Amino acid sequence: MSSYISLPLFAASIGQRLRLEAGRCTACGALEYPQRPVCRSCGGRTFSVERLSGRGSLHTYTVIAPGGAPAEFDREQSMTGALAVGIVDLAEGPRLTAQLADIETADLRIGLPVRAVVRRLYDQEGVVRYGTKFVRDDEAS
Ligand SMILES: [Zn+2]
Repeated sequence: MSSYISLPLFAASIGQRLRLEAGRCTACGALEYPQRPVCRSCGGRTFSVERLSGRGSLHTYTVIAPGGAPAEFDREQSMTGALAVGIVDLAEGPRLTAQLADIETADLRIGLPVRAVVRRLYDQEGVVRYGTKFVRDDEAS
């Protein structure tokens, strides 16, 4: 198992990855995140870019024991022990899977308010990859 993404592909998706840019269908108003070429609601192909708030709540989560995550995460896992991954319901509707950060495993619960932050994911090909992780949103509760 690997979450490998080539450098050009990573660079091309950086707006979506780091700024949570979704596509708003100009025909029917549906929100697509990740952005897609064709609207799932009406088949439209024209979208305006809309930045999501990054705020949401934990739909569900899992904690991956050491050795269970892709090799890129070995270094982080050796420092933090377990690797928590959640499915987050964003305030605007879309649902995404991301790593959870700075939350004690015992404090994880369904419905926990979270917000997106940009964090270092791992080094690959000598380049530090950044991505979105979610931390507890203390202002929400
Ligand atoms: Zn549409």
